[in-house]
Order: sequence, then C-alpha cells, then structure tokens
Amino acid sequence: MLGLAALPALAAAPPAFTAQVQRLQLKHTWTTVMSSSTYRDVLYVTLTADGITGRGEGAGIVRYGETAEAGVKFVQQLEPELARMDLRHYGKIIDWVLRKSPGDWAAKAALDIAIHDWVAQTRGLPVHALWGLDPKDAPLTTFSVGIDKADVIRQKVREAEAYPELKVKVGLDTDEEVIEAVRSVTKKPLRVDANEGFKTKEEAVRKINWLETMGVISIEQPMAAHLIDEHKWIRQRIHIPMIADEACLRPADIPKLANAFDAVNIKIDKAGGLLQGYRMIQIARSLGMKTMLGCMISSSVAITAAAQLSPLVDHADLDGNLLISNDPFRGVRVVNGKLILPTGNGLGLTS
Ligand code: MG
Repeated sequence: MLGLAALPALAAAPPAFTAQVQRLQLKHTWTTVMSSSTYRDVLYVTLTADGITGRGEGAGIVRYGETAEAGVKFVQQLEPELARMDLRHYGKIIDWVLRKSPGDWAAKAALDIAIHDWVAQTRGLPVHALWGLDPKDAPLTTFSVGIDKADVIRQKVREAEAYPELKVKVGLDTDEEVIEAVRSVTKKPLRVDANEGFKTKEEAVRKINWLETMGVISIEQPMAAHLIDEHKWIRQRIHIPMIADEACLRPADIPKLANAFDAVNIKIDKAGGLLQGYRMIQIARSLGMKTMLGCMISSSVAITAAAQLSPLVDHADLDGNLLISNDPFRGVRVVNGKLILPTGNGLGLTS
C-alpha cells in the first residue's frame, strides 16, 4: 500500500460529477433467453477535479429493475454530498456509495470506476497498480456468439477468428442447431452459457453431457439462480466445470455457492464496482473456487475497468465492447485472445 506521504493533496476545487445516458449500437441483434435488442443504453459518469477527469460506466440490468435513466438520477441525488468529500479517502467514499440504496448496482459501479480512474491518474499509476497487480497476468478472454440463424452464427464465428475460445448462449430449443452451426466452421474449445435456460435438472444433465461431447469445456448457470440444491445434483453428474452467474451477484452470495459450483462469474455492473469485484474474487479464491470476470454489453470504459482487475482471475469473458459499433473510447485490447491492458495512467483510456 502507498504511504500517506505519497498521497496527493486534497483536490483544490470541489470534485464535480456528471451522469448521462449513452446509447451503444450493437453490431448484431443480441438474443439471449431473456431478451433481443439492437442497442443498449448505459450510464456514463465523470468525476473532474484538479484538471483530471475520471470516467465510469455502468450497464443497468433490466432483470433487476435498473435502467440508465434511473442511474443518472441516483448519481444526481448523491452529487451534492460527493462534492464535499475528500477524494484521498476514496475507499471510504465507495463504501458510503454502496450503502446509499438497496439497489442501483450499475450506477454504483459507474461511480466506483470513475473514482478509481481519477485516483490512479492523480497518483500517476494505472488502476491495476492500486492493487499491486502484474498486467502480464491478464488472462485469455472468450468471444461471445449470440443466438441466431445458422448462417448468421457461422458468419459470427468467422468474425471471431482471432479468439482461441468462444462462448455460446444455449438454453433454448435451438441448442443442437446452434452448436452444430458453430462446429461446422470451427474446432475451437467452446464455453456455453445457459442463462438459467434449462427447465429441469434431468434436462440440464442430459444437455450438458451432450455439450461435452461437442467440445464444450464449461457450462454457465444451467438453471434458475435460486435452485442451489439442483445445481449440486447436476454437478455430481457432469464432468465439465459449472460456473455461477445469475446466482452470484455480490460478495455475500458466494459462500452458499461453494459446494454447488466450481467457479463464479463476477461482473462489475452487478457487483457495484471494482472494490466489490475485488472482494468477490478474494472470497471465491479463499473458498477454493475458480474465478472469471464477465461483462455486460458496454463500451471500453467498463470493459477496461474490469480488465484492470483481470490479472487476479482464471479466465475472462470481457468482450462487451467488441459487440458495439460506436465505442467512444479505446482501452484494453485483445491480442491472440489475451487481454492487453493499456499502459496509461488510470483506466488508460484514449478517445
Ligand atoms: Mg452468464
């Protein structure tokens, strides 16, 4: 940890926060078992003080009743109090934000990211250096292929040429058609995500064991999030690692999952930010679980923020920025499937 002597002086002028809705256009219509859409609205937050601007982003998850518009209101409500706070005590400020409401996790994430970006820039460090991480430890990331007609899937798989591992959504009646379409154009290892789509534990076991024969190396969230015992039952009858996503939102969710799942998918937007994500990684590791960092459909602000934590995890699924056509920033890059963190201070974003 840095000593107090290394900390910058209190910002001379009060910090100013802005919050706005940013519309992200998707390259392909995105379909999961939950929804289908051509764009996503996310929340953008900025924090400016001492001539330095920190940026944050959060993608409100519709399932939890969060929208970008509500996120703007949440940040605006907190702004007068935030503007009076001493940014040196950013850990305390983030904890205060986390306790301000029972929800608003994506908005909390956007604030947390903007604060980390500002603090790291002010100290002349990349964000990962605040935790003492080595950017060379950043893992491989998968590239997600959305559910679609067979010819579109084949085209999407060809576009993902550079990625050594692909992630495919399953959990619909079309699973066999989708997996066979992918397999008709690539032999790459596949990770699949059912997004709670399997209706019974017997169906889940049957499908997962078939998926294993198709070269699938992990399965994410086979059944509904609350069905912990069913997932324990499934895990005893399959051979590939099972990852919790919808069942794993925040730090307190992880202990009860330790005997039911092999790994957890941590997303900054549902956790409430980087501090929460860091806590989740440490809890999961301490329970002997593997960890991955996932994402929502987001621009390079949120994806680069998650990538700053990625040297701590086993595997990443940080491709949300690659699915949009109007990314306002550049940050983390993917080279031969591996996340390459930017070298700049803070998040390291460039426009
Ligand atoms: Mg998932």
